[in-house]
Amino acid sequence: MSVFTAPAFDQHERVVFGSDRTTGLRAIIAVHDTTLGPGVGGCRMFPYLSDAAALHDVLRLSRGMTYKSALAGLPLGGGKSVIIGDSRRDKTPALMHAMGEFIDSQGGSYVAAEDSGTGVADIKLMAERTRHVSGVSDNEFGGDPSPSTALGVYLGIRTAIRHRLGAGSCAGLRVAIQGLGHVGFHLARLLCDEGAVVFGADLNKANLQRAVDQLGVIPVAVDDILFMEVDILAPCAMGAVLDNDSIPRLRAGIVAGAANNQLAAAEHCAQLQDHGILYCPDFLINAGGIIDVHHQRVGSADTVRLAHVKRIEITLAEVLRRSDASRSPTHEIAEELAREYLRPADATAERRTPLVAAG
Ligand code: NAD
Repeated sequence: MSVFTAPAFDQHERVVFGSDRTTGLRAIIAVHDTTLGPGVGGCRMFPYLSDAAALHDVLRLSRGMTYKSALAGLPLGGGKSVIIGDSRRDKTPALMHAMGEFIDSQGGSYVAAEDSGTGVADIKLMAERTRHVSGVSDNEFGGDPSPSTALGVYLGIRTAIRHRLGAGSCAGLRVAIQGLGHVGFHLARLLCDEGAVVFGADLNKANLQRAVDQLGVIPVAVDDILFMEVDILAPCAMGAVLDNDSIPRLRAGIVAGAANNQLAAAEHCAQLQDHGILYCPDFLINAGGIIDVHHQRVGSADTVRLAHVKRIEITLAEVLRRSDASRSPTHEIAEELAREYLRPADATAERRTPLVAAG
């Protein structure tokens, strides 16, 4: 397994492997870029089939966080961590304490938040061993950033339907959501409240049933959800769902979801464009969570946090405008915009002010 030549390495500043004999912890912390601040990103727990798969995931996710935070106008860098293990079987308080100690050993260059396989309770356990965690304050959602993530995705959908369909509301539109976990459920609620017809699928039967019972989501088989004939497809489960195999079979006009790294590779955005599908870059519209985490860290008022999440609409509108003008894929445009915020054009130039100002 190579690190420096790994496809997703992209000049990471720091990649650290940690293990603990007593608890069985095996984890990786990756910090991609700290130009704008400490590398803040979720701690994912997943039963990776190999160490190489875990490394690939953490590197891609960490790089994505650099772009996400830059584009959201946050004074944060890009980082991520993964714990190799099954969150339902292997998670113990001692394991979370060991992860907290591992995070602490990085001296604040990495700050952890929740992610798939970890929750606020886990972050609170880590916080007993390190102060370099986020997402544990008691805001109206109890520290959980998922509702803010869902709000950002919902606003992204509204921007996309305005752009593509000239529609001012989701009422009557058909939306397919893959994954009805933390984010997918809240997104379904926002869409159902507005009168959208929401279809959903989840491997976890309890999560699916909750959305059916509480929101009236129409259940769909896990194998069919991506290929529904809908106005909007919202991938809210795992990454890499948009690839050579799935893209030609999609029947949605717009793809806008919360899952990180939905494109199996960057070139798949052009493929979506060739198929006439409008893709809303995941790292742009799912930034509500990291925006929330930032405002929890600095103790902002809820109104400030919400106003910041709402500015995702402005950034997406600008990306869609530039994409139309240049005929370049939206993912490329969004990365280009993030790079403008990260690096001055030349050594003497000022860094550009993001469309979405922090605070
Ligand atoms: P979650 O684990 O709470 O929910 C994911 C759901 O997807 C689960 O219910 C799971 O059973 C389901 N699922 C997994 N594979 C599936 C499949 N093949 N088909 C259908 N359902 C499947 O995670 P979450 O916090 O809701 O996050 C969802 C995605 O959004 C992840 O990719 C995460 O990295 C990303 N994300 C989350 C946040 C956040 O604030 N939680 C922020 C940014 C990005």
